[in-house]
Amino acid sequence: MSKDPNSTQLAVVGGGPGGYPAAFLAADLGMQVTLIDLEPKPGGVCLYRGCIPSKTLLHVAKLLGETHQAAEWGIQFPDPEIDLDQLRARKEKVVQQLTGGLGQLVKQRKISYIQGRATFLDARTLKIQDSAGQEEILNFQHAIVATGSRPATLPNLSLESERLIDSTSALELAGIPKTMLVIGGGYIGLELGTVYAALGTQVSVVEMMPGLLPGADRDLVRVLSKRLEKLFHSMMLNTTVAEIGEVKGGIQVRLEGDVEEAEQTFEKILVAVGRKPNSSGLGLENTRVEINQRGFVKVNQQRQTAEPNIYAVGDIAGEPMLAHKATHEGLVAVEAIAGHKVAYEPHAIPAVVFTDPELAWCGLTETQAKQENISIEVARFPWGASGRATTLGRNDGLTKLIIEPQTERVLGVGLAGAGAGELIAEGVLAVEMAALASDLRLSIHPHPTLSETIMEAAEVFFGQSTHAYRPKRG
Ligand code: NAD
Repeated sequence: MSKDPNSTQLAVVGGGPGGYPAAFLAADLGMQVTLIDLEPKPGGVCLYRGCIPSKTLLHVAKLLGETHQAAEWGIQFPDPEIDLDQLRARKEKVVQQLTGGLGQLVKQRKISYIQGRATFLDARTLKIQDSAGQEEILNFQHAIVATGSRPATLPNLSLESERLIDSTSALELAGIPKTMLVIGGGYIGLELGTVYAALGTQVSVVEMMPGLLPGADRDLVRVLSKRLEKLFHSMMLNTTVAEIGEVKGGIQVRLEGDVEEAEQTFEKILVAVGRKPNSSGLGLENTRVEINQRGFVKVNQQRQTAEPNIYAVGDIAGEPMLAHKATHEGLVAVEAIAGHKVAYEPHAIPAVVFTDPELAWCGLTETQAKQENISIEVARFPWGASGRATTLGRNDGLTKLIIEPQTERVLGVGLAGAGAGELIAEGVLAVEMAALASDLRLSIHPHPTLSETIMEAAEVFFGQSTHAYRPKRG
């Protein structure tokens, strides 16, 4: 093993949920590893400006929502007083605790961590520039590129204004605006819209497609839409923002589409129209790595690029742009580098939207089955029939199984309801293990829990659900 500080067996560029697990596994497998990131500690967008801060704030939103709901059960809370400084400090503390923990794990594993910006000079050499502008050269045997993504912008709506924000600045929580327009009814728009609405902002959402969360099954989205109709001031579908301009006290927008009031003014505008892979500015043109038209690095099943000693994982390597998919890819890449026989071939990548209620799905969706003409049967169990959901006052939920009719194999699972993000893990296991509907039906689920809805959905498939009368036709 080389002790030369200018050379490493594995250079991992990017310390997010794709890069740091890869670096950790490589070190566990005995490789000499250098992890490079712009931040002082690993974590990436997920920990610093994404999943973790947003979920910290969404937890607060949930708590606030529950205090309102408690009024229906005879418990009145006074209107909450929100100390924004303390809320921000708690969010920072969560981030510091987790990134600090990762910093410790880097040390324990004897990984060399470099804070700086890495650029490929060729397929064996990186130039790393630190924040003071100092440069160093690092030679590597293998590299994993895990540089993630950044918020997409709308070219026709460029405006130099503090009122126009993206997910990063929204999470900084500079204040609680009176009104906010969220452009994009996807993951980020709905999650951050939920946070601000719970804190007291009048939130409006504009989505260019006919429904929220395009691509997700409509029956799941309906469960969420019903609640969001009460939480949000308005949801304008089939609508886009044609023009924006700063006016006194806000930004005026001109909306186009299915909308009554075309000109509206908002204190803040949050743009959440997708993310773009960070594949440029890395010097990849100095290697044989290939990038497709959408900016994603082309990889094979081992996540190896066209340059055989360079791998790419996470958002930069294609959709879905999800932290857990990045981690899995990172581990596959490292095992491939270690010479193990592995491939990235998941049957079920879970998707979770952490709104209230949460939406979660994995494997084949009903929407996808229709698009691809795949013959399926769908078994739905409404949470109105769940004892646990009733105790929680959360009958607004749905569990569905997508089943292959001939084999009775579970191909996909969908959930809408409180805690759906936790429940979907059972669905992932079922799909990955090629479980049959009878496996889910015959596995004893604890009572009273929401997990029973998965078992009862399997019973619905057989027309024999205990709590939902759904006789099998024909
Ligand atoms: P998204 O793709 O989920 O949603 C963007 C939405 O904006 C879409 O519904 C799209 O139709 C709409 N849109 C695009 N252009 C528009 C326009 N001009 N006017 C109106 N609407 C427009 O993207 P996102 O919400 O920005 O999130 C980016 C990515 O980050 C997601 O794809 C997801 O992979 C990831 N993410 C995941 C989570 C999670 O796992 N819970 C949370 C946040 C972000």
